[in-house]
Amino acid sequence: MDTIVLATGNAGKIRELSAMLAELNPDVRVLGLKDFPHIGEIPETGATFEDNARIKALAVARATGLVAVADDSGLAVDALNGAPGVYSARYSGDDATDEKNVAKLLDAMKDVVDPWRGCHFACVMLAATPGGRELIGRGAWHGRVIHAPQGDGGFGYDPVFFDEELSLTAAQMDAQIKNGRSHRGLALRDMLRGWPEFLKQARMELEK
Ligand code: IMP
Repeated sequence: MDTIVLATGNAGKIRELSAMLAELNPDVRVLGLKDFPHIGEIPETGATFEDNARIKALAVARATGLVAVADDSGLAVDALNGAPGVYSARYSGDDATDEKNVAKLLDAMKDVVDPWRGCHFACVMLAATPGGRELIGRGAWHGRVIHAPQGDGGFGYDPVFFDEELSLTAAQMDAQIKNGRSHRGLALRDMLRGWPEFLKQARMELEK
């Protein structure tokens, strides 16, 4: 049996990845950070989503001796040159909340007219072995920042992220619809294209 560790304590992310990996490899066991309480908080000090995903995946792979998978994501707004980007979670400061982050974003965008309010959610999903072999997947979900929050599902910037194709904000979508379109789902599916070969190489490394 292959065991991998997902570098998150989020039970929802663990369930989602376990289900997708099980389709490729029924024998895979997915653990989370809760199974390794000695691994403390890993500071996200990278300048890009890719850097942060790599920092987290490598730290967990080295601490556990197993294959680890980490993701990093955020909202990139065209009119703000890609901000809040890697700072999405802490955009409004150390005591940031989703509400404060959204309020700061809407304020920064108050003079921007609709055609220029384009944005995308970005996600990098990265698997790493303790020896530093890695596999990367990327996903982007394009939309527009609307002028006031709509919908009460989801989290983060969902209430102001408008999907033009569905004419809904991410906060107005069923979770299943959101997962089918989201940057995280796309990044995961992108990474899984290289998964069988990566796992083969990883097994050889771990058996050495
Ligand atoms: P993380 O990758 O889980 O650390 O997410 C970083 C931050 O980006 C979150 O705290 C949210 O503010 C934002 N974010 C990432 N993905 C989403 C999403 O699907 N909806 C809304 N906000 C998101």
